[in-house]
Amino acid sequence: MEKIQNYIGGELKAPISGNYLDNVEPATGKVYSRIPESGEADLELAVEAAEAAASYWANTSLENRSAILSKVADLIDSNADELARAEAVDNGKPVNFAKAVDIYRASANIRFFAHAITQFSSESHGMGDIAVNYTLRDPIGVVGCISPWNFPLYLFTWKIAPALAAGNTVIAKPSEITPMTAYLFSKLCIEAGLPDGVLNVLHGTGASIGAPITTHPAIKAISFTGGSSTGAAITKATAGQFKKLSLELGGKNPTLVFADCDFEETVNEVARAAFANQGQICLCGSRIYIERDIYDKFRDALVERVEQIRIGDPLDGATQHGALVSKGHMEKVLSYIELARDEGGTIATGGQRRTLEGRCAEGYFVEPTLIEGLDNQCRTNQEEIFGPVATLQPFDSDGEAVNLANGTRYGLAASVWSRDIKRCHNVARQIDAGIVWVNCWLLRDLRTPFGGVKSSGVGREGGLEALRFFTEPKNVCIKY
Ligand code: NDP
Repeated sequence: MEKIQNYIGGELKAPISGNYLDNVEPATGKVYSRIPESGEADLELAVEAAEAAASYWANTSLENRSAILSKVADLIDSNADELARAEAVDNGKPVNFAKAVDIYRASANIRFFAHAITQFSSESHGMGDIAVNYTLRDPIGVVGCISPWNFPLYLFTWKIAPALAAGNTVIAKPSEITPMTAYLFSKLCIEAGLPDGVLNVLHGTGASIGAPITTHPAIKAISFTGGSSTGAAITKATAGQFKKLSLELGGKNPTLVFADCDFEETVNEVARAAFANQGQICLCGSRIYIERDIYDKFRDALVERVEQIRIGDPLDGATQHGALVSKGHMEKVLSYIELARDEGGTIATGGQRRTLEGRCAEGYFVEPTLIEGLDNQCRTNQEEIFGPVATLQPFDSDGEAVNLANGTRYGLAASVWSRDIKRCHNVARQIDAGIVWVNCWLLRDLRTPFGGVKSSGVGREGGLEALRFFTEPKNVCIKY
């Protein structure tokens, strides 16, 4: 059985403790590889390697940093089939989705920041004939990047690419639930000639290695993507250490469907927004608000569309909806469906675990589920489920739609569906979220700021925002 290794100082290494955890394939429920259970001793080695490489990497020319990162992106492309299969096995997502979305974006992330760093510039501020200020933007040093399981390689690279491009050395921890592609990526970094110690990847649990990374005094900045409660724990654990923190957290995103929307397109896209990646995307639209005039018609069309989604073995190219990432997560999602029933909801479609035949008989499959008849304040509509579960509610006016949309503690993303451009501008302006899509969903330009408000996070990733986060500005004022 394959043993995943840490990547420290340019080498693949076993954990110092010799302890490994089981890695389960969610589509079969069977252990298929082993994950290092890294701890503080491994972290010390990684910090030593990252500190030793810091000055060399910071002083490597932009062109050379860019060239090495571009080589890593090329290697992702040339190994896309293997990486997509590994992601499908490790995470449970359909292999074609993994190739088109996860692996495509992983190389796009790296290539984007390999280019962006060559265009990054700092500012100067003239003070008439008195003085001039110029701002230096230096790498921070050793930084920590912690990523979740829903888009394992995609979100891992979304963090480490700007950190490395900006000249930092990195200690990264992928989710223990989906470690495989970060391991394969480590091998590609070696092949690409990334200098030793520039990137260090430590595998293990949040408690054994995630928390120690966040509080290690040599690690000056933390970029974290994960749940809001983990984000809160990191904020508390690092209080007083004055680290830079970027927190991309949970969502409970509203989808606002107006009666004047392009009906067919909206039905298709609202279904995709709710259930892509088995609903395990922080940006999924899990609260669907429909203008009352079209509520029944839209619900019926949406149910029909959702019932066409093909559930199956993630390794089958025809599958559109794979397994949830773990048994524990499946149980959590099913418990929320039970809660919705207890809260008075009616299941419009789905609502069950799905048992498949053959190799996936023990897999963690849950049907795409639509629930109606719940009010906005119930737990089903307030708490992040992060699975294939969405609720439907009617509204009567633009103002009510905005109030319903804003009525949770989250504020990551929203989508608005209407052909009235004036309404779209007005509604988008009033929604409390870091990202609003109008007549589209998950249409991404990597230059745009990405992140949430309220309990959905602090800071922004993407484009120059990420390069600003991973550099320390220093103003120099020179008197004439
Ligand atoms: P978690 O918060 O459980 O974990 C995220 C990462 O943090 C994992 O690598 C985890 O390790 C690690 N971790 C856990 N505890 C700690 C700790 N105390 N200190 C440091 N690291 C720790 O999130 P999930 O992996 O369950 O991911 C799902 C969540 O991520 C959802 O809430 C989702 O909305 C959010 N998310 C947000 C996105 C955004 O951009 N805003 C994008 C994608 C997801 P391990 O898994 O090994 O325990």
